[in-house]
Order: sequence, then structure tokens, then C-alpha cells
Amino acid sequence: MTGKVHIIGAGLAGLAAALRFADEARAVAIHEAAPQAGGRCRSYFDSSLGMTIDNGNHLLLSGNRAALDFLREIGSEAEFVGPGSAEFSFLDLTSGETWRLRPNDGPIPWWILQSGRRVPGTRAADYLDILRLLFAPQGAPIKAALNCRGLLYERLWRPFFLAALNTAPEEGAASLAAAILRETLAKGGQACRPLVALNGLSSAFIAPALRHLESKNVQIFFERRLLGIKFDAGRVASLDFADERIEVAAEDKVILAVPAPVAASLVPGLITPQSFRAIVNGHFKITPPAGFPPILGVINGTIEWLFAFPDRLSVTISAADGLIDLSRDELARRIWSDVARATQIAQPMPAWQIIKEKRATFAATAEEELRRPKAQTAFSNLVLAGDWTATGLPATIEGAIRSGFTAAEAIL
Ligand SMILES: Cc1cc2nc3c(=O)[nH]c(=O)nc-3n(C[C@H](O)[C@H](O)[C@H](O)COP(=O)(O)OP(=O)(O)OC[C@H]3O[C@@H](n4cnc5c(N)ncnc54)[C@H](O)[C@@H]3O)c2cc1C
Repeated sequence: MTGKVHIIGAGLAGLAAALRFADEARAVAIHEAAPQAGGRCRSYFDSSLGMTIDNGNHLLLSGNRAALDFLREIGSEAEFVGPGSAEFSFLDLTSGETWRLRPNDGPIPWWILQSGRRVPGTRAADYLDILRLLFAPQGAPIKAALNCRGLLYERLWRPFFLAALNTAPEEGAASLAAAILRETLAKGGQACRPLVALNGLSSAFIAPALRHLESKNVQIFFERRLLGIKFDAGRVASLDFADERIEVAAEDKVILAVPAPVAASLVPGLITPQSFRAIVNGHFKITPPAGFPPILGVINGTIEWLFAFPDRLSVTISAADGLIDLSRDELARRIWSDVARATQIAQPMPAWQIIKEKRATFAATAEEELRRPKAQTAFSNLVLAGDWTATGLPATIEGAIRSGFTAAEAIL
């Protein structure tokens, strides 16, 4: 094949697209605006904690097949660790109850028949309601297909879909929730084992991907922000960066793997999602109590998921738009109050860091779902990638990687 491929953006979508070309006899260049790769999925050295942390705690599920393919291809599958069988620990901060949700490995969900494996206070019959979600019509909100009240909702479906959609499930798109369900829990416990990057996201995804791509002669340019695209006769004719213009030859292709608002500003007439939801992460430099679960779902608290790393306790709060304007000190105090109760740690608040991502992901509502464009564009040599394109999944690592693969395949 001839012609160079220009990939704009070195987030997971752009890196995944590049991986697909790595073994092709084709010149590939990645142009990234930031001084580093990874976009919304990376690690950095945090000087107030004195350690390297992730921009946000990221959870994979073992059913995320594209993400696991990506990791295998770059040789770092072992960086993501989790239990051999699906298991999720929960704590209800109001009642003090704790439980472990333990779906069985296979697709026939006999776990709901065993009170010790399901949510306490629920009956097996309660779980049948979820089937309506799987068959909800396109464009329906979750609340039209699922009873968004009651113990099972509060203790299972709400935390599960809130984390997956980063959108209050009541306003979330049923199709996106159903897609997650189909690829994970509905396949059985072996497809929903929780996996976390033991040494951080950059060590698992980014550094090995860059090494792999460089070994395949993919060129990677940092601090190279695309400022404009010149279109001519229905195709991209040149790419305007701050310090240079690159002419795009007739046989060259461009993959635009930047966030939705950036893509919308660069491509005339492009319709993209317009509303976003925040994520707040809190990190506390303290050794977790011995035997504390690696991931704890917290019900009836400000915090939603508590991650226990060897050197810190980290919290994720999804769809955190109601908290984003609070001061960092106030957030740290509130979050630590929940963490201290959940862990029964009695000491004063340790060194902390609060990371607010205001536009963490697009809002996974039925309205925004309609605004997600396909990879192919109206321009013959321009393809889109990114978690906001029409992947059929919410904005996740899995969606971003699949979008990159799809964009590359559209060209290949
Ligand atoms: C706090 C947080 C927690 C999350 N938790 C999870 C989780 O637990 N599980 C999960 O699956 N997903 C999670 N996600 C979602 C996941 O991180 C994203 O879906 C994924 O990283 C998006 O990748 P992307 O490549 O589509 O976009 P991005 O990561 O945004 O990459 C776009 C890249 O384009 C670059 N760029 C922008 N403008 C230009 C320009 N003009 N020229 C050149 N380059 C440009 C950017 O610098 C960036 O590197 C989370 C996200 C956040 C923010």
C-alpha cells in the first residue's frame, strides 16, 4: 500500500489506530498536541503526594476484548490484575451492611438464586427486570426500561451503570447500558472480572504502546497541535500545525482522534456530542488496612468506588457535576470523611490530591447517542476515531480502542 497515514491525537483511540498499521508497509505519523501521549488515560508524577498516580482511576472488565487485545499486542497484558472470578465488595454507609456480589463464571446466572452471592435484601425474581433493558427500543432512556427505584437498583444497577456511563442512569441511554451488560455481566462472571492497572495506566497502556510503535517505525511527534485543516475537492489537502503545514498527498489518509469539541472545531458540518459529565478523583497517601478489598463499591456516600493501592486509597466519583465547583479542600474533607468511615481509619486526613475532570466523557444520554458520528466522514481521506464516535459503547477505554481499530480498518 502507498500513502502516508497521519493520526492526530495520541490518546488510546489514536494509539489503537496506529497499532493496526504497525505491521503494514505504510508510513505512519502521530501528531499529538500535548508533551505526552495517553490523553485522558495516563499517569503523571504528583508532587503533593510524592508518587506517580493516574489522572483518574480506571477500571477494565475482563469482557473488554478490544482493550485486552491491545494490551496483548503491546505485551503488557500482565499489567492489569484482578481476581480469578468476578467479585465485587460493597458497603452501605447508611446501614453499615457489607456484601460481596459474586456472579458465577458461566452465562447461566445461577448466582442470583444464591442469597450469599446476590445483593442482600433482594429476591432472585427482582433480577428478571433487567431483561427489559436488553430489549429496550433504540433511543429509549434507561428509566423507560428499568425500574430505577428499590434496593436492587440502588445497590447494583445504579452503581454499575453510573460507573460505566459516567451519567446518572436515570437519564442514561438504554442502548449503551444494554451494550455494557451484554458484553460483561450477561456473558457471566468470566467477562466481568474487575481489572486495574497495578503500576498505573502509563506503565500498562501508554509506555509499551509507544515502544511498540516506535519499534515498527511509526513516527510520533509531541507538542504538535493541529490548528486547522484545509479541505479541497472533498478531501483533506493540508494539515496546519502551529509551526508547519503538512501537505496531504492524494493517496495519504488522516485519522482525527481528538476529543469531540476539537474535532467539531476542525471539520466543517461535523455533528458531535455536546454535553459532558465530570469525574472527581481523590487520592490519599496512606497504607490501606490489611485485607481491605482492592475495590469497594460504596452506597449512600459521596464516594462511589474506593480503590486500595499498596501506597494510597483512591476514590472515584462519576457524573460529579454537582461537586465540581466545590473547592478542592472542601472536596478532600468530604471524601476523606467517607473514606475514613469505610476503612475505619481514625487518623487525621493524610496528604491528598483532588483531580477534577470537568469534561471527562460525553453524557451517555439517548440524545447525545444520536449525535455520535461514524468513522467515515464526508471527506474521502478523513476518518474519525475517539470514544465519542459511534462505537455503540459509552465513553470507555474499550470504546476508544475499538474506535481506533475501526478507523484503521476503514482505511485498510
Ligand atoms: C477521570 C476519568 C476516569 C475514567 N475512568 C474510566 C474507567 O474506569 N474505565 C474506562 O473504560 N474508561 C474510563 N474513562 C474514559 C477513558 O479514559 C476514555 O474513554 C479514553 O481515554 C478516551 O480516549 P480517546 O483517545 O478517545 O480520547 P483522549 O484520551 O481525549 O485523546 C485525545 C488526544 O488528542 C490530543 N489532542 C487534542 N487536541 C489536539 C490537536 N488539536 N492536535 C493534536 N492532538 C490533539 C489530546 O491531547 C489527547 O492526547 C475515564 C476517563 C476519565 C477522564
